[in-house]
This record gives sequence, structure tokens and C-alpha cells, in this order.
Amino acid sequence: MNDFSLNSLMRVCKSCGVWKLSSDDVYCSYCGEKVASLNALLSDNIVYFGHFGAQDEIVLTLENDGQTDITVDAISIEHEWVEALYDKSIVYPSLQGVSLPYQIPSGNKWEIPLKINLIKPSSYYNCSVQVQTVAGINRMKIDVLPKPVLYTNLSYPLDDEASKIAETSVEIGKLDSSTNAPVCQLIRSSDSGKESLTCYLEIYESVVTVESVEIGLKINDEFKLSPNVSISEISPMPLVLDPAGIRRLNFTLDVNVSAFPVGEHPCIVHVRCSRIRETIIGEFFINRSSRPEIEFLRSIGNTITLPGEILVRHKDDNKDVTIELVNTGGLDVEMSNVIIESDWLEPLFEIPETLKSGQTEKLSFRANIGKFLSQLPESSEPLRLKGNLLFSFKCVEFSAYKIPDRRIELVLMIALMPIYDGIVAIDFGTANSC
Ligand SMILES: [Zn+2]
Repeated sequence: MNDFSLNSLMRVCKSCGVWKLSSDDVYCSYCGEKVASLNALLSDNIVYFGHFGAQDEIVLTLENDGQTDITVDAISIEHEWVEALYDKSIVYPSLQGVSLPYQIPSGNKWEIPLKINLIKPSSYYNCSVQVQTVAGINRMKIDVLPKPVLYTNLSYPLDDEASKIAETSVEIGKLDSSTNAPVCQLIRSSDSGKESLTCYLEIYESVVTVESVEIGLKINDEFKLSPNVSISEISPMPLVLDPAGIRRLNFTLDVNVSAFPVGEHPCIVHVRCSRIRETIIGEFFINRSSRPEIEFLRSIGNTITLPGEILVRHKDDNKDVTIELVNTGGLDVEMSNVIIESDWLEPLFEIPETLKSGQTEKLSFRANIGKFLSQLPESSEPLRLKGNLLFSFKCVEFSAYKIPDRRIELVLMIALMPIYDGIVAIDFGTANSC
């Protein structure tokens, strides 16, 4: 029975079956077969910076897959931030009678943990590792890469009419992401249904292999997958993202808007990458708002007719009139401008003025009705005065959301102050008195 592994002194070349091998033979002196072979590999050759430097432990495995026992002459590590933990190294299958750690018997592996502890600014570093034996020099390299900087970009129509596309950018892996998380603003009517948002994951620093991307709801501080916010049409993974190469991983986010009542709904992005143990997390809110709506009280169509008749008796007469408007929508509105196209109306308010959601505001105008005195002969019908007003509004929180201008026709009925026989109409200092 030939058990070549037990005693190198008794070992005979497997290739020719003739030559007795000694431990420093690299080639069989009889048949020329290479008999010394060492396979060296690292469990990982990429380590990432975390929030506080790069700390990790990888394993250097030296596997003697040749026919002779191999003595390791040197393991040289370029930088002191990589430390070989020889006292924690393991040889297996473990055999008795073998001197360790410097000699690896044929068919055995020597596993040496390498501790990486790099406290430097997050950037690109590398460290070469060389193993020298009679079989040659094995060269390896450990790359330390910066903490990945990844963003998820969501692109969506701001309102039902899709008149403006808005974007929300979610930083992935931000330490304090739950506060001030970005908001995906959906200004929607009550009958909005399912929507597909155009999205991508983009890298700004480092190089990562993305294994998976998930988006779900944040419920009780935990990630929950939901049919109401789910990913489809995602690029095939794993995918290497590199600022100098493929920067983006595209996907579609399907949002069932009807499942999101008015208000903020926290969501979570989960990104898993090769060689990064923890899931990288980003947070954002889906904020469903009902659109800003302005109603003019007592208006019929675009016309507000003030009740009753205003009596005019002097060319300097004026009358303060008031209209009311209410913001019935879900977002604050700024009344940014009012153009009065009639010279007999003056505003008694200032702009800009903000109308909060649900707020009613009174706007007063001074109507210089005396101007029309000459058009009011005693016997005529009341005169209809029409004032044209053009209101402009802005959505306070989302300037990109355009609120259409509103044209309002303000109608006043004016009539001449009647003068009755036998009754003294109270009148001070005008030429018309009795
Ligand atoms: Zn041989």
C-alpha cells in the first residue's frame, strides 16, 4: 500500500512511479513533472470602508496541491494595516508529526486570517500579499474601496395631468437617513390608480456589485414588501456599478396610488451588494397630496355678482366691496398677483398672500362708483359695472406645480340715489340737493 502523504521520505513521483522525491524538489528529476505546487488565494480581495474606516477579516488559504511537502519561506504583506493572525491559523486535515506553521504537507491547507484595520480617509487603497516557497512566488492584492455612494432616483409626474415631471433622489446608506428623508410628491385627484415610476440606482463613488434592489414600506420601523409599491423591469443582476463604467441600474417602481391616502408614507430602499455584509438602506416618503384648488365663493362660472344695488349720488362716491376665496385643496397656495383690468377698482389688500389648505380669505376692493354718475339718469335701470380681475397663484411647497390663472368678472349693480317728493334726502353739499 502506498500512502504518499504520510512520509515525504518515502514519497515516489506519481507521474513516473520511479523517482523518490525530497521535500525541496520542484520537478521530478526523472520524468520532469512539476511536483511542488502551492495554490494561494484570498477569501476576498475587496474590502469596503464603512462609516469609521475599513475593518474586516479575510482568509489567506495556502493549499499544497503538489506531491511534496512545502515549506513557506516568507509571507510578505506590503502594509501594516493588514496583519496575519498566525496564532489563529488552521491547518487541515490536521495531521500529527508535521511541523507547523512553516511546512504544509502535501494535500493540506493552511488558512491564515488576515486582519484589515485601515483608519484613513475613505478612498482607494491596496496592499500586495506575497507568498514565497520553492514552488515560486504567489502574488495577491487586497483592494480597499471607498464607502459606496449610491443614490436611488425616482422620476414621476407631479400631478394627474403629467404636465411636469418631478424627481426625488434618495441617498443609500446615509447614516441618519430616517430624518429629513426625501419626499416623492404625488399631487393626485381622488381617483388616481396605478402608476409606473421611472427609476434608477446610480453610483457616485467606489465600485460595487449589486446583487439585489428592493423597495417596500416602512412599517413599525421594519422593511415590508408590499404589492402597492414594488419593483419591476429591473436590469439583470448581479451588476457591477462603477462611476467610470456602468453607472446606473434601471428599474420601474410600480405604485398603487389609490392605496396611499393623503399624507406621508415612509418607504425603504434595500440594496444588497457583494462583499458588503449589511444591507444598504435608503429611506423616502411617498406623500400623496390633493391638488391645490381655489374656489371663489358666490361665483357662478367665473362671475361674482354682488347682491343688491349700490346707490350713487356724487361723483366722488366710492364703495368698499368684498369677495371671498377659499383654498379647498390639500396644499398651501400663494396668491402671487392680481391684475385689475378695470380702472374704477382698487385693491385694499396686499400681495403676495398665502392661503393655507382650508383657509378662507376676504379680499376687499374700493369701487369708485361715482365715476358713473353721469351715466345714471334718474329714470334708468340699474347699471351693471363689470370689473375684470386676473388672479395668479403659486403652489408654496412645489413651485414646479403650476396652478392655472383664474379670471373673475366682478359685477356691481349701481343706481342713482332717488329723490322723493316731500322727503328730504340726506345729502351734504352737493349740487343735486332739493
Ligand atoms: Zn517522475
